[in-house]
Amino acid sequence: MSNATPEASCDFCAVTAALPSVPARERLYVGPGWRVRAHRSALPGWTLVIPKRHITSLDELSDDEAIELGLILRDLTAVYVQELGALKSYVQQFAEGTPHAHFSVTPRMADLPPERLGAKASLYNSADEPLSESERDDIAIRLADAWPRGAHTHDVVFARAEVAS
Ligand SMILES: [Zn+2]
Repeated sequence: MSNATPEASCDFCAVTAALPSVPARERLYVGPGWRVRAHRSALPGWTLVIPKRHITSLDELSDDEAIELGLILRDLTAVYVQELGALKSYVQQFAEGTPHAHFSVTPRMADLPPERLGAKASLYNSADEPLSESERDDIAIRLADAWPRGAHTHDVVFARAEVAS
């Protein structure tokens, strides 16, 4: 193992390397520098925003990757508000379970119970039964369909387009 690169043993990198031949839940959005995954969570719409490159700290982002990240956070939040009726989004970045940097982005629903507010929303991942794989595929396609299409997304692949082809 000592000769292995960090990427070789990284689950995020393995999925990215297999694009586009991965389930819809792993490619809700695929852009030049990032992909978005419908996460293994009980909360529909919980996503991971993952850089395609194996980086372990955000200071390693290129300018292009940093710009794309801003667009993703805005557009994903718009999807939550318009498609799911969320008030706003939550954004967290720890990367302790895996060294590969990534954000957890979640819809902040109006009826979120007080015991699940803020960082306690992570109980949806640790205390509850997660969505099935097919449910995660379905929510990925639904959110991809609702993603705002703009000039910056011309080289972006969405889950629905991949499924249809
Ligand atoms: Zn990685």
